[in-house]
Amino acid sequence: MPALPTPQLEHLRSLVSRDRLVRDTMDLCSLYSRTGEAKPALDRLAEILAREGFTVERPEGGYAAAPAVAVRYSSGKPGPTIQFNGHLDTVHLPFVPPQHEGDRITGTGSCDMKGGTVAALEALRVVRDSGALTKGSILLTAHDLHEAPWGDGTQLEGLIRQGYCGDAVLIPEYLNSCIPTAGRGLAIWKLTIRRPGAPVHEVLRPANEPSVIEAGAEMIARLRQYGTHLASKTDPVAGPETVFVGQVHSGVIFNQFPQELVLEGTRRWLPGESRYLVEEEFRKLVQQVADRTKTTIDIRWQLVRDGFRLDTNHRFVKIFEDNYTATTGQTLPQGPKPFCDDCNAFWSLADIPGITHGPNSGGAHTLEEWVSIDDMVRVAQLYAATALQFCNS
Ligand SMILES: [Zn+2]
Repeated sequence: MPALPTPQLEHLRSLVSRDRLVRDTMDLCSLYSRTGEAKPALDRLAEILAREGFTVERPEGGYAAAPAVAVRYSSGKPGPTIQFNGHLDTVHLPFVPPQHEGDRITGTGSCDMKGGTVAALEALRVVRDSGALTKGSILLTAHDLHEAPWGDGTQLEGLIRQGYCGDAVLIPEYLNSCIPTAGRGLAIWKLTIRRPGAPVHEVLRPANEPSVIEAGAEMIARLRQYGTHLASKTDPVAGPETVFVGQVHSGVIFNQFPQELVLEGTRRWLPGESRYLVEEEFRKLVQQVADRTKTTIDIRWQLVRDGFRLDTNHRFVKIFEDNYTATTGQTLPQGPKPFCDDCNAFWSLADIPGITHGPNSGGAHTLEEWVSIDDMVRVAQLYAATALQFCNS
């Protein structure tokens, strides 16, 4: 049975400090740390860890403006490394200062994902205080550049490439209703279709001048056809490959012949597909439409994350599931990952198993974020138990 025995679980639970959870979440949420500008929050986390006696590293991961935070807590004996990874950047919305009332902390970043990161930090402290880690180590990492479109995930990719990568990773994002086992890769694309001539009254337009609106219509029709083709590539958990058009803009007034049309949307693909081939195929398709319509089409292609798959036979998964059941009395089903998160980077770059599981919380990407303190306690206990069982056994 891979779960920790009940007395040990209860001991871990007794070591979790609700006061520390509240104090550190309030502290990190009091700092405005939009994506690209997360340095103050990362500095504060580094201070908290250093104050508690941990040796803190600040690897840049390719982003010197906000160096990441890393702590390796080792048993001193060889063994596996379990990683807890969080991002401290928040989406670009107006700042809502933190408030604590009853079981909830509200404010910017409380849900996504300072609350979760503090629960992981607490798990690290609990393992240390328990003195029960006999093999291997825990690696805690926190970083910036997570939230698209302001961030592109490259700081975490840099950290992984620099070796800040364990043998399994827990990500305390706000999803906790299932263990996500597959998710699609995602890129955001933007096409700008242009014709050579100047803006002109429609009755004065040269006969052979291409229409950007007609080219846009052709592009949309071509993307729809492409989407039908992609739908045949499907995964029972992750869903089908897609190309999606979310925005179209062109024209100034009803009788001016416009110069430009802008289309924006997404492309999602199955785990295991190459991001490079996906991009190349998309670029080829766009170029065909540009050639046929005699327009020029600029392509902005922004990779968000590769796809994701979890090896459900990995002992890490079994350990996590059994400790979840032992601490809650319930079983956690497996399911899809609807969005991209940092587990995608760990899987695609380092092929390590990752589980996204954070405290009950809500309002991500809104002004109404909140996190449950009771559930941060649960997550801290679960992370500590999973770490001990994964490293020691
Ligand atoms: Zn997040």
